[in-house]
Formats: sequence, structure tokens, C-alpha cells
Amino acid sequence: MAGVLYVISGPSGVGKTSIIDGVMKKVKNVVFSVSCTTRPKRPNEVDGRDYFFVDERTFKCMMEQDEFLEWAVVHGYYYGTPRKFVEEQLKNNVNVILDIDVQGAMTVMKKVKDAVFIFIAPPSFEELKRRLMRRGTERQEDMMKRLEDAKKELEQIPKFQYLIVNVDLQESIDQLTSIIVAEQLKVERVIERLGSHKIFSDGGDSQ
Ligand code: 5GP
Repeated sequence: MAGVLYVISGPSGVGKTSIIDGVMKKVKNVVFSVSCTTRPKRPNEVDGRDYFFVDERTFKCMMEQDEFLEWAVVHGYYYGTPRKFVEEQLKNNVNVILDIDVQGAMTVMKKVKDAVFIFIAPPSFEELKRRLMRRGTERQEDMMKRLEDAKKELEQIPKFQYLIVNVDLQESIDQLTSIIVAEQLKVERVIERLGSHKIFSDGGDSQ
């Protein structure tokens, strides 16, 4: 597969969506993989853009049909990455960004050779709490669960290849952009994309 799979993880409320949105505007040839979830839709969300919102029965049916590259129960709901979409994009040389939780990232680590794993962390736990409260998309009980889960997610940071501490949104966008661009310029990836004959051939000029 010639496209690169970028797996972005980090606790709820850390700012992953805003960072990814910013990067998508700057980097060419990258698509975002829209996940399926059983979580209720938030008022500002659009089905098919933010998630494919499905009921639990449909989700489990998709699991049985092996339609997910990975899936996990996150903060009490099912979330999964549609396998076919990701595989087709990578096969067509298109790079793919996943925004998934740490459990999902661990599954992808076992399944996809050469994927790139990036963790986005808050500057502090207190700041994460403030951001989640400011966002106000969750009920108090759900928010407490997300904070509890965040502690476990932060413990998994050493398993990732890159770590962005999201202090300033623009700086984080620049950092993620740099990682994506640098990964694509790795010698083996350039050769895989272009073919070694194109790079090393002298065009028949040498005698
Ligand atoms: P939210 O409900 O705030 O949109 O997302 C909650 C968490 O689920 C986030 O950490 C997000 O990264 C994760 N998530 C979103 N889609 C998927 C997915 O397809 N698989 C997994 N494992 N996690 C996901």
C-alpha cells in the first residue's frame, strides 16, 4: 500500500478535531476517515461528515461482517473505522488520517505495518478539564467518565512515535503538518510512490 496511514490519538477535549481540520487545509493528498459510532449525534454534527451515526444492532452486524479495521468501546459507546474506505485510499496512494482512541490505535499497530502513530496531549490535566468543561458537549456524568478515561490514555503515550503537546492550536497544526510531510519524504516511501527507475534513471544520456 503506497498511501500512509496517520493514527491520531489523545484524550477527549484535547483539541484533536481542530488540529486535524487545520492540517487538512494545509496538506495535499490527505483524507479523513469518518468513523461509525453508536454515540448520539451532537447538535452541531452532521451524519456522514463527523461520523456515521448507527444504532447498536447495525454496529454489531458490521462487526460480524468484518467491516471495521478496528473498533472499540470508548466512553461507553461503540466506535469503529470502516476498513474498506481506508484500504482503498491507501491503495490509491492517498494518505489517510484516523482520529481514534488508544485501544483502537493499539489494534492498528498490530494490523498495519508502517502506520504512523501520533499522540496529542494537553499541557496539564487541569487544562484538559477546563477545555472539556468549556466545550460543554457532554453531560456532567459523561464528562467525568471522559476525564477518568483520559488518565488511562495518557499512560499509553510511550507506545506512540510522536507526541504533540497542544498548548497553542496553530503551533500544533504546524507540528502535525511537519510530521506528515516528513514521513512522506522518507526514502523508502518516495521510492515506493515514484518507482526507483524514475529517480535513478539517467534518461539514457550517459555513455
Ligand atoms: P467523541 O465522542 O468525542 O467524538 O470521540 C470520543 C473518542 O472516540 C475520541 O477519543 C476519538 O478519538 C475516539 N474515536 C472516534 N472514532 C473512533 C474509531 O473509529 N475507533 C476508535 N477506536 N475510537 C474512535
